[in-house]
Amino acid sequence: MYADIIVDISSENLDKTYQYRIPEELAGRAVVGAPVIIPFGRGTRTIRGYIVGLSEEPKLKPEKIKPITAVPEGGIVIESRLISLAYWIKQNYGASMNEALRTVIPVKKSVKQQVARRITAVCTREELTREYEEALRKKYAARARLLNALLLEGSLNYEETLRSLNLTAAALKPLIGRVIQIEGDTVFRNPIPEGVRETLANQGNCPRHVLNERQQRIADSIIKDYEAGIRKPCLIHGVTGSGKTEVYMEIIDAVVKAGYQVIMLIPEIALTYQTVCRFYARFGERVSVMNSRMSAGERFDQSVRAKEGLIDIMIGPRSALFTPFPKLGLIIMDEEHEGSYKSEMPPKYHARETAIERARQCGAMVVMGSATPSIEAYSRAVKGEYTLYRLPERAGAGTPPSVWVEDLREELKAKNRSIFSRRLRAMMEDRLQKKQQIMLFINRRGFAGFVSCRSCGHVMKCPHCDISLTSHNDGSLVCHYCGHRQSAPKLCPECGSPYIAGFGIGTQKVEAMVHKEFPGARVVRMDADTTRTKEGHEQILKAFAAGDADILIGTQMIVKGHDFHRVTLVGILAADLSLYASDYRASERTFELLLQAAGRAGRGSLAGDVVIQTYHPEHYSIQAAARGSYEEFYHREMAYRRMLGYPPASHIMVVLVGAKQEEKAEQTAAAVKEKAEEVLAGSAPAGREARVGESGTDALVSIIGPAPAALARANDVYRYVVYFRHRDYGKLTALKDSLEEWIENVNPISGGSIQFDFDPMVAY
Ligand code: ADP
Ligand code: ZN
Ligand code: ZN
Repeated sequence: MYADIIVDISSENLDKTYQYRIPEELAGRAVVGAPVIIPFGRGTRTIRGYIVGLSEEPKLKPEKIKPITAVPEGGIVIESRLISLAYWIKQNYGASMNEALRTVIPVKKSVKQQVARRITAVCTREELTREYEEALRKKYAARARLLNALLLEGSLNYEETLRSLNLTAAALKPLIGRVIQIEGDTVFRNPIPEGVRETLANQGNCPRHVLNERQQRIADSIIKDYEAGIRKPCLIHGVTGSGKTEVYMEIIDAVVKAGYQVIMLIPEIALTYQTVCRFYARFGERVSVMNSRMSAGERFDQSVRAKEGLIDIMIGPRSALFTPFPKLGLIIMDEEHEGSYKSEMPPKYHARETAIERARQCGAMVVMGSATPSIEAYSRAVKGEYTLYRLPERAGAGTPPSVWVEDLREELKAKNRSIFSRRLRAMMEDRLQKKQQIMLFINRRGFAGFVSCRSCGHVMKCPHCDISLTSHNDGSLVCHYCGHRQSAPKLCPECGSPYIAGFGIGTQKVEAMVHKEFPGARVVRMDADTTRTKEGHEQILKAFAAGDADILIGTQMIVKGHDFHRVTLVGILAADLSLYASDYRASERTFELLLQAAGRAGRGSLAGDVVIQTYHPEHYSIQAAARGSYEEFYHREMAYRRMLGYPPASHIMVVLVGAKQEEKAEQTAAAVKEKAEEVLAGSAPAGREARVGESGTDALVSIIGPAPAALARANDVYRYVVYFRHRDYGKLTALKDSLEEWIENVNPISGGSIQFDFDPMVAY
């Protein structure tokens, strides 16, 4: 046996592996992830490395391959753990080891720090004064000079101060962390803005709630399990505003006090200033945040802080799961159902399963929470694989809203051609008059005002992608997939008819309608256009929370985050459009969005109303949402998934083939299917007919395709898919292994790509 070994764990060098022979006596311990001592270069020099792959094939003449010197025993280092996690990801989701390693290993920055470093106080002014007086008394002259300057100026330029006050870095050292900090320091960069920290430090503590009985019971039970070494994952099913975050914080507190570290996963769109403040107020400087807007360098710094024990809690989206904490005790996954927990790039891992695996490797616990758990997670909880806890009521102020379902077909019959039903309109007038706030929510999935010809039906599509262009107010047509932009045609390019126009409504259209029908109302709109700038999203929400507008119009973005206490009406325009999406999760997503949007109403002391406008008032996802009943939805949806063999009743593996030429993509997809059939025929259990078919008893993998993907072309790449379905996930990963091996040996699509996706969250 041979091992591929990396000697430098930095993302630039992850693909530089060296092959070594595994001596007989080390065979048992030379696993992927294991640290090894190897001879390196000339002479007798040995260095440390990590095994990232095993094979039976020597890459050189066997006698030229040196043996591994040793596999050291002792504590497992964090690098080893992350490498074996990468291996697990590769095995379970399909990707090269290199891609998997790049996912888990933080990017090492090579960018030079640009901001000037500054010295600031981390303690109160009184404490600073006390420190100063003590320095004078003890005749620490250098220290006294510094503290005096700090008291006078508040913050100091690091380099300048050292020079002008004639100080050395060593003189500052004893004060760092306790009295001062150096901001902008490459390693200690703190991503939480200085302003926020100051405010929090001055306020002392955010109001800290005494947990209510239900919250306390859940926290106690989880902490008790944790202390007893029980590591079964937990799922907290709690309605929006039921106080899940407070429960998380209670558990985090216990884990941190026991000397362990915590990763708190939050989908990026819910990762607001408010949330960060709550954590910061409770846990102070030992909290850090990661997000996708941070530079690679900033993120790398955060992982260094984590590894060196400078922080205990990392808050962030999916990628924060790989924070290199040496003593990880707990992973929390808020809004467990969110699609963004699934990577859309290979390896297409799901953070839920990966979190459970990471926790298993290091003896940590996983706690998930959601108001609308994914069907997958909830079904496991029902089966007892996860411990299920419930928080059925709101914790703070607020009463559940009244929900109204309005049938748009009836509106049309009553000659109401407005986008607002009569009820919604009347309620909007009422709220505007009472100076209460309104949120109008547009379900944008599959619904972006596309442009079509009323004479011939021609739809304007992106020339690079197989999707329709969206019309914007400035007269241009935009592809939301690749960003292509062109001006809207006056005449249909197909038939020359002048009757070519936008169809459906987007946020801009809604805004225009509101202005027309409610001329006095102050309106803000939130969509991809108004939030393009870095802080646009946050600014709009803040302005609305401050009462700067009466009506907030937006897409899925507005259902998360801020508590808007003055919102007493939520209107959901065309609730059912996401039902037309072509994937099996369409109902789940519709239900989720409706329930989350409804959760925005009546969070303050005033009762709220929610109006759901739809063409399908009888659909179970709308009915269940109107009744606020997750259980009802779950049972209907699970029955549907069972009937059609969709996850979690069965598992699906999608093979996505992409190529510049359509025939190439199609042929390769066909070859994938053929190869799969061959593999499956070979592996069929003895005594059974080695057959693959569309139906499928337990022994058979059903295959669908090849077919063009729903998004048949993207960025000028043609996309074909083949679907495989089986109840047993392992059967599909075994098939994937064989296909990967075949792809590596045969290279059936040079220049193109073949990707795997298990239990997809997106429509292909
Ligand atoms: P979730 O995470 O379930 O949406 P949060 O933890 O954000 O819920 O709590 C929702 C609101 O209720 C917040 O404003 C929070 O401050 C408040 N809250 C939570 N727990 C309590 C409690 N025990 N007593 C009073 N208010 C609470
Ligand atoms: Zn036409
Ligand atoms: Zn495009």
